[in-house]
Amino acid sequence: MNLAASDAIILHHRDYGESDRIVTFLTPDDGICKGFARNARASRKRFGPALESFAQVRLHYSAAKGGEFLSLRDAELLDLRVGLRIDLQRLALAAYGCELVEALGGGHGHPEIFALLAAYLDHLSSAGATPEARLLLEVRLLFHSGYAPHLLHCAECFGPLPESFSFSAEQGGSLCPACAPPGLLPVSLGTIGTLSRLARTPIEAFSGFHFGERTLNEGGKILLDALNQHLTKPLKSLAFLEEMQVN
Ligand SMILES: [Zn+2]
Repeated sequence: MNLAASDAIILHHRDYGESDRIVTFLTPDDGICKGFARNARASRKRFGPALESFAQVRLHYSAAKGGEFLSLRDAELLDLRVGLRIDLQRLALAAYGCELVEALGGGHGHPEIFALLAAYLDHLSSAGATPEARLLLEVRLLFHSGYAPHLLHCAECFGPLPESFSFSAEQGGSLCPACAPPGLLPVSLGTIGTLSRLARTPIEAFSGFHFGERTLNEGGKILLDALNQHLTKPLKSLAFLEEMQVN
């Protein structure tokens, strides 16, 4: 039996049977994986709190016979990110980040997606639920997953954009007034320029960013529109965020 080990972020888990647990986690090289933790609830000795959502761990596992699950042998807790439990906003944003990464396929094993989610969770845990965190996560996820919309030129005619214009992710991104059908989301060149710049900032940097109200509102709508093109079902955590009115 081949034993393997990887760093991982626990995305979520569910109980199985009397004492077992099924854990979904993100790894740098293999993207999203599912593991079966036998006896995880009955004996806390082997896994302790290491299988809690949002924890950074070092997992040891083997491939289960013919199954879709890896067989988890033990988990070394690196960081539980206890700061996420301080308030509901932090928890809601953490859950949203994990659900979004999973819904987009976990980056299909791109280590930068792993680094991005780890840095986002670290930021929420230490600095709290800043309005910048969600925007930075979303814009980087789109660009590093290969889903970037056209921003700085018209997606239809590739012409330049005026000061204000329209955006439609369904039609590929920004649209100049000549190409845009009526009724689309109006956006400003300033917001689009900011998103384009942010997409190229270091993936692990979350501190020191401050956006105005307009960037947060417009940018948030653009990114949500772009992300929705790649989601097959609505995210539960997003509905919760909207209910709480967390940005
Ligand atoms: Zn055009």
